[in-house]
Order: sequence, then structure tokens, then C-alpha cells
Amino acid sequence: MERYQGNPVVEKIAVGKIFIYKKKKDTPYREQIEDVVYEISRFEEARDKALRELDVLCEEAKGQIGSSNAAVFRAHRMLVQDQMYGDFIRGTIQDQKVNAEYAVAEAQAHFSQMLLGTEDAYLKERASDVADVSQRMLRLLGSDIETEGPSEPSIVVAEELTPSETMHFDRDTVLALVVQQGSANSHTAILAEAMNIPALLGVEICDEWEGRTAVLDGSAGELILDPDGDVLARMKEKQREIEERDAKLAFLRGRETVTAGGRKIRLYANIGELSDMDAVLSSDAEGIGLFRSEFLYLQAEDWPTEEEQAQVYRAVAETMRGKPVIIRTLDVGADKQAPYFELTSEENEALRYAHPEKEATAPGPGLLTKDAPAFGYRGIQVCLDRPEMFCTQLRSILRASMYGTVSVMFPMIASVEEVVACKELLTQAKSELRKEGKEYRDIEVGVMIETPAAVEVSAMLAREVDFFCIGTNDLIQYLLGVDRQDAAHAECADPRHPAVTEAIRTTIENGHAAGIWVGICGEMAADTTLTEMLVEMGVDELSVSPGAVLKVRGAVRELN
Ligand code: PEP
Ligand code: MG
Repeated sequence: MERYQGNPVVEKIAVGKIFIYKKKKDTPYREQIEDVVYEISRFEEARDKALRELDVLCEEAKGQIGSSNAAVFRAHRMLVQDQMYGDFIRGTIQDQKVNAEYAVAEAQAHFSQMLLGTEDAYLKERASDVADVSQRMLRLLGSDIETEGPSEPSIVVAEELTPSETMHFDRDTVLALVVQQGSANSHTAILAEAMNIPALLGVEICDEWEGRTAVLDGSAGELILDPDGDVLARMKEKQREIEERDAKLAFLRGRETVTAGGRKIRLYANIGELSDMDAVLSSDAEGIGLFRSEFLYLQAEDWPTEEEQAQVYRAVAETMRGKPVIIRTLDVGADKQAPYFELTSEENEALRYAHPEKEATAPGPGLLTKDAPAFGYRGIQVCLDRPEMFCTQLRSILRASMYGTVSVMFPMIASVEEVVACKELLTQAKSELRKEGKEYRDIEVGVMIETPAAVEVSAMLAREVDFFCIGTNDLIQYLLGVDRQDAAHAECADPRHPAVTEAIRTTIENGHAAGIWVGICGEMAADTTLTEMLVEMGVDELSVSPGAVLKVRGAVRELN
């Protein structure tokens, strides 16, 4: 028996034979060409074909792994169209008078090297996306690249797996994945999670494993080669325990989110777009605690119209059949950008990669573009500087209020003046609608508490609004000075840091003193090791990703 440790994704057990996945690839030959225009047109034709392929793949992926996870292919689409990537290839063809295949391979090497050379673990991961897209281009240019998966159910072992390759496998033949390169941030991890396949990342793999029997223990993060009878029996038992736990969670569907002592907690879901509603319904969430409306904007080519937005908000409200739906107004800036926002770049700008899978459905700005930094102009500041655009959104939210229980929530608030300005625009939007004979209901108004400033002035803010929602993702980053996108130092963003827990406590106390309810909608709300502490602090609502709803309900019900 041999044992190997790795970073696990999906707590399941798989037993089967190992299939080593190998890419057969020819390094593209370098050929001197005469006709630069023709060669560039070959590249552009391949690029157009790649875009069409990715459109199809995106649609397929949406059906199989959900819209949020399919966003990786939307990001690939943007990389194919990326100005820097395209310019590099065209420039190589033109300057060196070489064939398109060679220029694409050069682009892959150049950008991969650039990304791998950064300090940022997340950016390092993105080198595999450049490889994925470049290989697609090479195939379309006629290079011999094969992606053959296993023909029978196997544990697939690979040095590296691109999202396209992962999606290309026949799902019935993949029992588990073991990948040498990749972290929890890698697309392989995200796709494995979406496909509910156990995976182990960061394992030093070996060709000699081919055909050997193995066990992948997703709960212990272990791969065991040639397991003996004892190990197999133990794994069977473990698998039974995992299934039992899943069945227990299923049992919580339709139950109340209430402690044994009878304290009721509202348990809501976070969404990014309409297509997330299927997951919400199956999660049994009691409402939508955070609708990140910016994804509507990020997917658009231009400002979405009032009608377009109203339709989406209405559909969400109708689907929830009277359960609360909290729509957060546009929160852009930092890593959420689109060209038509025309946000000027800021001093500490950095080369950034779009974070499609992290940001639920956000395609973001494209792989090799520059973004504004985490510390900068974003959220409510951007909206208050564009009152017309902001009013359009407020009008559409108000109109959707006729179809359910809709509330509005303002992001990145740092002062009472901002809230007052938001409320004035809300009043203006109402009066415009009234004049036009359009119906709306009076809706609850809330603010996100996600800046240290908002915590400090929370007693004053509480007098202005109906509820608070603590955005711990941003609050932690701004309190502790740790960039939330920095995967390499994720452990520094400690939700147990006294500065964080005290900020939460202060916010809850100030909210309650003013008679309003206080929720949490950052990732921290889904961490069941923190549920007891948050409930003891007096939190009224927890809003988590749909997949975490039942787990959190279970944790609340176990409390006294
Ligand atoms: C947060 O900051 O905790 C939050 C929920 O908002 P977002 O993650 O969308 O910035
Ligand atoms: Mg936030």
C-alpha cells in the first residue's frame, strides 16, 4: 500500500482503477511565412471558431454544473478576445513572419510565464487558463492535440487538467480526480465540486500508477494505492457515514431554522443571477438575503435598462412566492469592472484576472486587463456619482416590489450622509413612478456593514434603516488589511480575529438598540464552526450560498 496526501475537494470516497490522463501534444513547429495577412486571417478564423465552441460549451456547462461554474468558460471566451493576447499573436506573426500556430504557442508561453511569475497564488493558477485557451486555438488551427478520457469508470490522474478537459470527460467514467497542479482556487477544484466528484489536488503523481487499484478518501485528503481488505472495509464504513450525514441534511429540508431553546434564525441564500434560483429552491432557503445585482451589469455590454432589470427582479420575487428578497444595489469597482462603467484606473492598480467562479456569475473584465484595486472607488460611491443610472435601478427594484417581498440594500456604506443620499434618490424614484402611474410598494431599506467606518457609525446608521447586513468578506479585508483575492495569504483573513468579532458584536448591539434586525451575508455565515458564536452574539439572519443552507440549518438546530 502507498499513501499520498493532497488538498481534498468533495468529501466522498471513490474506489477504482487509476487512469493516467495524458495530453498528446505536438509542440507547434516554427515556419517562416510570406503572407502575413493570410496568417493573421487564419488566426482570426480560429479565434472566431473558438468563440463559437465556447458558446456551446458554456450552454452545456450551465446545464451540467450550473451557471456560476460555467462562468469559467465565459472567462475563456473573454481571454480568446483579449486585446493583449490577440495583439501578442498578431505582433508575433507580423514581426517574426511566423505561422499562427507558433505565435499562439509563444503567446501561451509568454502569458503563462508572466502569471506564474507573480506572487499571487490565484494569478499563478490562471496560467492553466491561458494553456486551455491556447490549446483550443491550436487544435482549431489544425495541430494534433488529443484529449482522450477513460473508457471505463476510473480514478483519473493528471498532471494538470484544464476546465475544458474536465468537462470533456464522460461523467460516468470519472469516479474521482487526482491532479498534481492546482489549489483550492483552481478551476479543477471548482468544477469537481460542481460535479460532486471527489478530487485531490497537489499530489505528486507517477506514470507507474496506471491500472492500479486505489481509494480516494475525500474526507481525509488521501489517496491509497493497492488498498488491502482492511482499508477497503474501513472506507466502506466511512462512505456509509458520509451518506448518512447527507441523508440527515436532506431531512432538514422543510424544517425550521431554530435552536433547541426555540430561538429562530432567518436562513437566507446569496445569489448572483436568475439562474441561481434552481439551487435556491432545492436548498430550501427561507429567502434571498443577498442578490448581488452587479452581475446583471457585468454580463451586459451597456447599462441594463429599467425594464431589463425589473424583469429579472420580478422573476426572482415571483419565484420566492412572498419570501423575502433583498436586492443589493450595484456594487462595482475593485475586481468587478466592465468597460462601459468607464471607471478610471487608480494608482495602486494591478494586473488582475477576472474571478468568474468566485464571483458567482461575474465574467469580469477579461484575463489580462488591468483592474482597480480593492482599496478604491467602489460600491455606493460609484452609484451616487451616477444618480441617473442609480435611479434606474431603484425604479426597477421598486417595480418588482409588486410581485413579492422585496427590500433594497446599499453596499459599501461608510457614512450616514451616503445613506441619506440613497434614501433621497429612492424617494425621487418613487415620485417619478407615481407620476407615471407605475405601481410599487414601500420597501424595507437596509445597508451592508462592510467597512470599518460603517461599524464605527453603526449606531447612527441604525436610525436611518430597517436592517443591517454585515458583509464579512469586505469587512475582514478592510479591518485586517488583507486582500480578499489573495489566496496565498487567506489564513491571514481570520474571521476569529478579535477586531472582526468585536466589529460584529458592536454592529449587532447598535442595530438591536435601534430596534432593527441584523444579518450576516459574507462567507463567514456559512462556517458552521462559527454558528454558535454568531447566534450567541444575537445575529438574526444568516445568508449563505444555496449549497450551505442545510448545513447551517443543522448547526443552528444543534444549539441550545
Ligand atoms: C461581503 O463583502 O461580505 C459581501 C457579502 O459582499 P461581496 O462578497 O459581494 O462583496
Ligand atoms: Mg462586499
